Amino acid sequence: MRILLVEDDALLADGLARALSHSGYVVELAGDGKSADSWIEGGTFDLVILDLGLPGLDGSEVLQRLRGRRQKIPVLVLSAREGLEERVRLLDLGADDYLVKPVALAELEARVRALIRRGQGTPDPAIRLGRLTLDTVGKRAWLDGEALDLTAREWAALEFLAQRVNRIVNKDQIMQALYSWEDEITPNAVEKFISRLRGKLEPAGIVIRTVRGLGYYLEKPPDARD
Ligand code: CA
Repeated sequence: MRILLVEDDALLADGLARALSHSGYVVELAGDGKSADSWIEGGTFDLVILDLGLPGLDGSEVLQRLRGRRQKIPVLVLSAREGLEERVRLLDLGADDYLVKPVALAELEARVRALIRRGQGTPDPAIRLGRLTLDTVGKRAWLDGEALDLTAREWAALEFLAQRVNRIVNKDQIMQALYSWEDEITPNAVEKFISRLRGKLEPAGIVIRTVRGLGYYLEKPPDARD
């Protein structure tokens, strides 16, 4: 899951980015409104965390432009200002949620999880696919009730595929979902992840198909619910 964190206070941005990365998200940082706007326009993010007081373009303007482009990406606004009017104004501009600074990390993370789930169209934090169950909050997976041993990136790849069952995803999309843009990563590394995941999933009949030249998809198991 990829988050764009827009915050000009470098210390706060660094702290939040660390905490979110530690929880398994890929976090990109933007320190001003203009770069945030171009990141959002060009990138694929599952969530934007948006500070309001920003140099250049302020947060409300970034939000208005994003919604003006009809981008549906969930936005969690951070603001120093409290008050009903402010809250209503931001929700009307298209914010999905709103936190007043200073933010409590646990609350921020809970709201991030909820917004990403809603954005993915999976309000239930558990994904069940045949004998496989994923807990997207605890970031754990089970096969037939037995916990699967997965590395953080194997987990992220599995979650990415499981949220797009029967839909082909290409290597670039997987790479974007797993790594920040400054990380060194090759398409070969993606092949290795997929191959390790297959080794762990196929004994239970969970199949990741390769579509030559296009990418991969996780095949919907016959007994999975719609
Ligand atoms: Ca600020």
